[in-house]
Amino acid sequence: MLIPIPVGQKYTATMSATVPKLVKCEQCSTDYVYHLKRKAVGEGTSLLFLNNKGAKGSAQAEARKRLLKVLARSCEPVPCPACGHVQEHMIPRARQLRCRWVGKAALYLFPSGCLLGLAAAGVLTLTMSNAGREGWTASYVIWMIIGAMAGLTAAAGVIASLVLPVWRYFSCRRYDPNTEKVEVRKARGQSLAVTKTEFDRRQVGQASSQGSTVAQPTQNGSDRQLDTCVPPSRHASSDRPRPISQRGSSAGDGRAVGGSHRRP
Ligand SMILES: [Zn+2]
Repeated sequence: MLIPIPVGQKYTATMSATVPKLVKCEQCSTDYVYHLKRKAVGEGTSLLFLNNKGAKGSAQAEARKRLLKVLARSCEPVPCPACGHVQEHMIPRARQLRCRWVGKAALYLFPSGCLLGLAAAGVLTLTMSNAGREGWTASYVIWMIIGAMAGLTAAAGVIASLVLPVWRYFSCRRYDPNTEKVEVRKARGQSLAVTKTEFDRRQVGQASSQGSTVAQPTQNGSDRQLDTCVPPSRHASSDRPRPISQRGSSAGDGRAVGGSHRRP
């Protein structure tokens, strides 16, 4: 009989942070700042449970490293609060965020359509079989209509689940957020960002009330920002240890990590 043998502990650390991002508008040269939030996961392994503390530290260090990397590379499509222009480097992200519901809808529609189609086929087959033996009555006609409508709905669902992702792909490829009305873009920019001058004013006010130093935003987000603006320790949402198990004989066959993992 095969039984799982624990051969170590795996730690997962999740870290999130929010940093101010500084942007210079390509259209009106206004400097503005918005806040970018990201999350990253790191893992560490303690073989034979010999270095649990080190593995936990490794998981946190890896999460921190990944978080800094993703904060430096990421952006959000935040329009300039002064003129409403969405910057060139934000357009790929705007396209990525557009119509994200389509993927979820397709995942839901395809299996639902298949199941409904099977049910409709069952209803139609049974109704036709019984009606063939006993003759067509009003109730059989009603069941035929119900089965046909369910079949059509199922077909529409399956077709939509295949067509919608293709439509989204081509629609997003051409999408330019700067074609939206300028008032709408400006309003969105003003709700998500402030000018650098306003940001500095708020930071100075906040720093003087707390007696701390002022954190400056950068275009990439820096380690210092992570420390000064959002202490990672406050945002480390989980450090989850998981035993690493290996499937083998009860005596074990000497192989190390690489077997199946399971939660405690
Ligand atoms: Zn601008």
